[in-house]
Amino acid sequence: MRRDTLSTGRWWLTGLGLSVLFPVAAAAWASTADRSARVRAPETRAHRKQPKGLAVRIVYDNYPFDKKLQTAWGFACVVTGLEKAILFDTGGDGRIFLANIRACGMEPGEIDAVVLSHIHGDHTGGLGAFLEANSRVTVYVPKVFPEGVKREVRKMGASVVETDAPRKICSGARTTGVLDGGIPEQELYLKGPRGLIVITGCAHPGIVEIVKAAKAHAGTRPDTVMGGFHMAGVSQSKVQSVIQAFKDMGVARVAHSHCSGDGTRKQMKEAFGEGYLPAGAGARFTFESGAEP
Ligand SMILES: [Zn+2]
Ligand SMILES: [Zn+2]
Repeated sequence: MRRDTLSTGRWWLTGLGLSVLFPVAAAAWASTADRSARVRAPETRAHRKQPKGLAVRIVYDNYPFDKKLQTAWGFACVVTGLEKAILFDTGGDGRIFLANIRACGMEPGEIDAVVLSHIHGDHTGGLGAFLEANSRVTVYVPKVFPEGVKREVRKMGASVVETDAPRKICSGARTTGVLDGGIPEQELYLKGPRGLIVITGCAHPGIVEIVKAAKAHAGTRPDTVMGGFHMAGVSQSKVQSVIQAFKDMGVARVAHSHCSGDGTRKQMKEAFGEGYLPAGAGARFTFESGAEP
């Protein structure tokens, strides 16, 4: 947490600040939502029109990539190509989140399942706006989330699944289970053709511990690690130790953004060479025959 506040004061406002306000914000969604105007997902989910093959699209990030998308502090991505289209985190600002999703050629109604990594507002702030657009989803939240938040999500029409242990979302996608690093957090991992694709929110429990947990649970080599690494402002020797741990576990590609830090990104780019995949708002990674930006 401290490293984030060192790297940007905005985290304090959009992250912890909104997390404290989150139950209030959740109540506001319910009171302001025009339920009759809510767009229901069509019977045949439009994501089936998406190109075939496993893909991850970052739809919310503070690092730029595709100029059509706005940048703001936070993280969200959409996984397509599996039995279910999965939204992992929702960014911090609902308006930007919805605009970005549409700029990627997607609609909220295409999403079947939402996995929230942790309570901070830069990962949960877009949820209310999303549910107003599509509440016909299952939302997987860490069991430790405040009861008021779970209640408001249900009130908006979504199903809530409380998670603690690793959980199957659909074939090829599971959560890591809630790990404790001061801030309880769960991550998402996918079974790709070359190994696991581990996607992290803020990685508060520690990026190496998270990848180790995914590897232990899946019994498969981690191939790609992406998302927020929570490594802004860390020493070069710390980054080096993470690089070494990744390589020891067989990680071949990294696509980190959000709270990973400029210095960490630079050092990992040098260490992973072609396995360093530039990431940011709008970046799309396909895993049909390996990860490509
Ligand atoms: Zn974050
Ligand atoms: Zn966080």
